[in-house]
Amino acid sequence: MTGITIIEHPLVLHKVSLMRDARTPSNVFRQLLKEISLLLGYEVLRDLELSHVSIETPLRSMEAPCLSGKKLVLVPILRAGQGLLDGLLELVPSARVGHIGLYRDHDTLQPVQYYLKLPADIAARPVVLLDPMLATGNSAIAAIARLKDAGAQDIRFLCVLAAPEGVEAVTTAHPDVRVFTAAVDERLDESGYIVPGLGDAGDRMYGTK
Ligand code: URA
Repeated sequence: MTGITIIEHPLVLHKVSLMRDARTPSNVFRQLLKEISLLLGYEVLRDLELSHVSIETPLRSMEAPCLSGKKLVLVPILRAGQGLLDGLLELVPSARVGHIGLYRDHDTLQPVQYYLKLPADIAARPVVLLDPMLATGNSAIAAIARLKDAGAQDIRFLCVLAAPEGVEAVTTAHPDVRVFTAAVDERLDESGYIVPGLGDAGDRMYGTK
């Protein structure tokens, strides 16, 4: 598959397996999602711009690499995307945060937008769009279109589980967007759930049905 990076680190895969387990309670599920976001974030942000800054260590002066360039924008797709936000904000506390509210119409499986708030200067910044589940790809495709409408040019999409159908749909609709995931599962079921998956990520996070 092109346009996708699968981050198959043993720690990530172990934590994803715990999240998949239907017996895992909401508080543990949320904690695992945060831990996974820290591990995946490391890879998603691998190419952030660096410049060298003069510092004094206790032993001598040196030119030390520090993050430079425009601050990152993190955009969770509400509500499950929130589960990936806190970990990434711990890695990059100065990041700006936008929000996109989309829900999936249960009959059509099409995304319906109910909220959008993005930083004004998103065009000059790298953007990481967050949603733990890439299922049909409809929500991700719609969210990426909103980011592009707002001027975003460097967009990465971070999820935890993907369906092959969703990966194909997103990378076809937006070939310039890099997709990062921990695993690509077997398929979607007739209701648009990822199989074997982990169920509804938002419900698993918040104990709703
Ligand atoms: N959204 C989820 O939360 N889970 C799925 O399996 C598919 C979409």
